[in-house]
Amino acid sequence: MQTFLNKKKYFSPFIVSFIYMILGTFWILLSDSLIHHIALNKEQLTYFQNVKGIFFIISSSILIYIITFFLYKKIINSTYINPITKLPNTQSLIEYLKYLENSLKNQSAVLIKIHIVNHFDYILCVSVEKLKEIYLKFLDKLYNIISSLKVQNKSIEVFHSNNLENIYIFIYPSIDITIIQSFINKFIEIHYQEKEIKFLYKIGYTINKVSEDMLHEVEFAIKQIIKNDAIDINQFDNHYKIHLLKQFEYYHKINSAIENNELFIYIQPKYNLLENKIIGGEALIRWKHKGEFIPPNLFIPILEETKSVYLIDQWMLKNIINLQKTHLDKNIFLSLSINLSPEEIENITFYKQILNILEKLNYFDFSLKSLLEIEITERTFFYNFKEINERPKFLRQKHIKISIDDFGVNYSSLSLLPKLPIDIIKIDKIFIDNLEEKNYRVLVKSMIDLCQKLNYDVIAEGVETEKQKEILLELGCDKIQGYYYSPPIPVEKYIELIQ
Ligand code: C2E
Ligand code: CA
Ligand code: CA
Repeated sequence: MQTFLNKKKYFSPFIVSFIYMILGTFWILLSDSLIHHIALNKEQLTYFQNVKGIFFIISSSILIYIITFFLYKKIINSTYINPITKLPNTQSLIEYLKYLENSLKNQSAVLIKIHIVNHFDYILCVSVEKLKEIYLKFLDKLYNIISSLKVQNKSIEVFHSNNLENIYIFIYPSIDITIIQSFINKFIEIHYQEKEIKFLYKIGYTINKVSEDMLHEVEFAIKQIIKNDAIDINQFDNHYKIHLLKQFEYYHKINSAIENNELFIYIQPKYNLLENKIIGGEALIRWKHKGEFIPPNLFIPILEETKSVYLIDQWMLKNIINLQKTHLDKNIFLSLSINLSPEEIENITFYKQILNILEKLNYFDFSLKSLLEIEITERTFFYNFKEINERPKFLRQKHIKISIDDFGVNYSSLSLLPKLPIDIIKIDKIFIDNLEEKNYRVLVKSMIDLCQKLNYDVIAEGVETEKQKEILLELGCDKIQGYYYSPPIPVEKYIELIQ
């Protein structure tokens, strides 16, 4: 490919200069002999040679102008114009914002980013020509919506990213937020070759002083809602940007946290209300950096996104197995659970690593006691059911219990529930928080009944009050975890508690 491109790159300029050289040589030879023929004396010869020189300069300049004009046009088109819809692209928007930043000092404008979430379906199955027709129809509809907005006397510019998935609308001067919100439909539908094609999208916008940063701001606004099915439009929020930047900072520091002994384990006991005793605990990571505790919610998500959360989870697994071995020596048979992040569940090498660690630490010698439990979020289980299904099954054969964490929050599909290779269901805190509402009680009651009928153990997470505990007992759930009984505590304290 590289050789092919190189040939293409050098061949055309070579041909052009070669033709110029041949024609130029002919021109010099022919014109010289012609001048010598027609010049009657020396003065005439000098005169004709001067005219010839001037003619040469003028014709070369015209030629250079034509060539550079077309080349420049080509460069501008390929750099700044979307090749399919011919709208100015993202690079164009960057330059435009930079230009306006200088000319419209401190004035406010709106940048809206429409991020199409399902466009690849069309790209994969249609030709570029058809794609162009589809997108032009979509843009037509979008223009209709924009022009129906009451934004007279505003300058409106539309940009389209080369990968087709992002459309930017820049409106100057700034407009009212309600106008932006009013133009939101959940989707735009177009009619193409007797088919309806739905463009689904998320919208991020920012109202701010004109600057290149506006582009990053709309990215942040979209990023915040991209995984949330319930929200389709979001205004840039500076706090979220600070939050992400902080996460990024922690991402750089976490690698050294293990080496510097900055990680600790806290355990939150799980409690059986009927038997009045601790039935195990959940291990939760704690990071103390420069004397300050950094909550997992600040560093786990970025580690998950950057596929490096396995560092923490492997460290946790090793420590928990070692801890359980010491408990075994003291005849304490309480199970401890660890959290595994979604992408680890999908990652076959991580499974092998888990088994390796367990083998090295001789876990299988005492595995019959089921001292290890792995918590996998509901989202992971239902999202990629077929693929991950086999792996938890395999762990269960090795006497590792599997529980669904945060059950009920987003992706539950009842049809899959009976098939899951799991032992325990952890009802999410959000249901427990609302137990005083009758409808929630009905819901939680049916969840408990259903899970028990399917032979899954049920535990309620985030139980904080006596009232919640009473209701849960009434509804038939006797296992709880939450501040009501105990917050997560250092390992030493947990050991004291269970001895
Ligand atoms: P999670 O697995 O749902 O863990 C429960 C979280 O709820 C813990 O927060 C716990 O401290 C908190 N909690 C427990 N009871 C109550 C209560 O009564 N009220 C309230 N308000 N909160 C309660 P924590 O320790 O901050 O952990 C947050 C999340 O970070 C965990 O949610 C888990 O998803 C993740 N995480 C923690 N440790 C690890 C780890 O070692 N590996 C991985 N992959 N994720 C971890
Ligand atoms: Ca958990
Ligand atoms: Ca949970």
